[in-house]
Amino acid sequence: MTTFHLSGYPRIGAKRELKFAVEGFWKGAKSEAELRETAAGIRRLNWAAQKAAGADLLPVGDFSFYDHVLDLLCTLGAIPKRFGFDAANLSLQEYFQLARGNATQFAMEMTKWFDTNYHYIVPEWHADTEFSVNAQNLIAQIKEAKAQGYDIKPTLIGPVTLLWLGKAKDENFKRISLLPKLVAAYAQLLRELAAEGVDWIQIDEPILAADADENWIKAVETAYKELGNTGVRIIIGTYFASVAEHLNLLKSLPVHGVHIDCVRAPEQLAVFADAWPENKVLSVGLIDGRNVWRANLSKVIDTLKPVQEKLGNNLWIAPSCSLLHSPQDLAVEEKLDSEIKSWMAFAAQKLVELGVVKQALAHGKDSVKEAVAASDAAAADRATNKKIHNEAVQKRVADLPKGADQRKSPFAERIKAQQAWMKLPVLPTTTIGSFPQTAEIRQARAAFKKGELSAADYDAAMKKEIAYCVEVQEKLELDVPVHGEAERNDMVEYFGEQLAGYCFTQFGWVQSYGSRCVKPPVIFGDVSRPEPMTVYWSAYAQSLTKRPMKGMLTGPVTMYKWSFVRDDVPLSLVAKQIALALNDEVLDLEKAGIKVIQIDEPAIREAMPLKKAQWDGFLAWACEAFRLSSTGAEDSTQIHTHMCYSEFNDILPAIASMDADVITIETSRSDMELLTAFGDFKYPNDIGPGVYDIHSPRVPTAAEVEKLLRKAMEVVPVERLWVNPDCGLKTRGWKETIEQLEVMMEVTKKLRAEL
Ligand code: GLN
Ligand code: ZN
Repeated sequence: MTTFHLSGYPRIGAKRELKFAVEGFWKGAKSEAELRETAAGIRRLNWAAQKAAGADLLPVGDFSFYDHVLDLLCTLGAIPKRFGFDAANLSLQEYFQLARGNATQFAMEMTKWFDTNYHYIVPEWHADTEFSVNAQNLIAQIKEAKAQGYDIKPTLIGPVTLLWLGKAKDENFKRISLLPKLVAAYAQLLRELAAEGVDWIQIDEPILAADADENWIKAVETAYKELGNTGVRIIIGTYFASVAEHLNLLKSLPVHGVHIDCVRAPEQLAVFADAWPENKVLSVGLIDGRNVWRANLSKVIDTLKPVQEKLGNNLWIAPSCSLLHSPQDLAVEEKLDSEIKSWMAFAAQKLVELGVVKQALAHGKDSVKEAVAASDAAAADRATNKKIHNEAVQKRVADLPKGADQRKSPFAERIKAQQAWMKLPVLPTTTIGSFPQTAEIRQARAAFKKGELSAADYDAAMKKEIAYCVEVQEKLELDVPVHGEAERNDMVEYFGEQLAGYCFTQFGWVQSYGSRCVKPPVIFGDVSRPEPMTVYWSAYAQSLTKRPMKGMLTGPVTMYKWSFVRDDVPLSLVAKQIALALNDEVLDLEKAGIKVIQIDEPAIREAMPLKKAQWDGFLAWACEAFRLSSTGAEDSTQIHTHMCYSEFNDILPAIASMDADVITIETSRSDMELLTAFGDFKYPNDIGPGVYDIHSPRVPTAAEVEKLLRKAMEVVPVERLWVNPDCGLKTRGWKETIEQLEVMMEVTKKLRAEL
């Protein structure tokens, strides 16, 4: 029989039970015992669901109170010394302090896990980092699963990926130099697990999919030569991109199998199926672990059949990656359109799909006739359903004339047309869009949504906020004011709610970090804009001031990247459709007299493919989609874009090709280092580096801001330079916001006077 296994399952609970328990514990409202009980309950339900669907090897070690990378660091005794904690006797309180900081120590950093929206705690590596194994937590969970009668396969992140994803905290120290010590600790851990009776273990090395340098790939070889004889059978897990280039390495390692992601990289299946040794396990992930769509079971079974003929029981099946990235259970959705729901599968449904595939491989497709017929029917319906397929949208994209993504004139001419009416001083000032989202604003929005606040009262409440926001900016003498985004819950959701082709779930939560979960919108069909989305609010804001009001939109890449996206057409097409919907809005804003429009694209960097070889292709269509969103705008209309902190150095030509008249970027925390790259590159258009950090309520001193601004003036020609905060101000309070902006304005005026 084919083995059905998985490496991880959502751990927050179908209704976010873990989130509420953890937050209750933080607040002191729940005891540790209560929290542990909730956690054990979630694990029990998860394992039971997996077993009921036919899974053979259930994951252990995928559960975490905060983050599984942090758990692994605790298991390996590799927590930062600066906390002064004893890893061998770490309390739950201390564990959370590592993630969230305490009175004397700042929290460990976190960052996005590859191209997902999951954030892991970043390991801190020092030249003198030592490891010591504390397997008790993991072993306790192994015992727990076994006591419930399950066959298990613990999952861990592998040593090479763990080292690589951490940060070297000492100078002249290379984290790879820790490899021998770290591998020795893993070997010790595996021996302890073997002594517990663990037979199989999955060790994930997603680094293999990520274009790492050769010395890191060499490290994989070194590590597994040592881990291969610890008494457990190892399956190496890979995901998110192809690892076909490492086929020979993977074949040669003394491990018992490999898992490959054939959703993200279907082309690697043929390579592996052809050359994989028959005495080793090949686990094929054909059920998408990261998206919300039902699989085409017939296709999956037909694809696997020949691989099974070749490999027999050494073909294993699994989701493409851990189901951590998928919402938990579609069954609890009560409000989803029933047709759209019939096309979807969350983690629980994906388990059932894998159960069907397993059955079909064992007893033939006929043995699962009904399930396959239902899956076929859903696929057929999706291929033609009018809710998905909008001919007008498709025709509009297909008929785009060549050059439709280009502005009327080059930047040099546009900027003159803009300056002619805007009459801005040197070092013009602006903000990134949002102003404080106060409790009153959030209450008003929530009450309106629930029907407790009438449309007229809601309208009045929002107008009052906008009027206040504009008044504050008038007083500050900000040159390009904004309306403040009071009416927006979230920069993607707000637009998704108004665009055709988007829908929303009630419980489609996915863990983002710690107890924080996000509920991404779902793009299920062709996207279009039935009605203007922002014109009403922006026009109202403009009516309150003579200064040029900046309209505020979210760009096509960010709109899809922070959503679950349909998987039946290329991403490039989805981006183009969104771009055209945004373009309708840009032209309507223009007509309404809003002639400065910002199209935010903070997600461009994280949307980039893992493989460098695919970057150019991606950037070509992503930047084209951005340009398309303002196609047809007058030269005199000024298009801004904004990006949060990112490594842009290697993609500056693409950023320049977006051809925004003004780009604002987050630079203050990097001490303008990022801006230097723009300067060296001779970035041609206007640029607004952030002159203070908006993540903190602290008001910067004038001297600090002046130092940053002077640095900016050294690297960017002053006639191209804007002055603004790092990012939106929605997480700040009004008091500090005004004080921070006062400092920014004071410094700007001082430097203007020198020019
Ligand atoms: N306009 C948005 C804001 O100001 C941009 C946020 C972002 O870049 N993430 O909040
Ligand atoms: Zn930002």
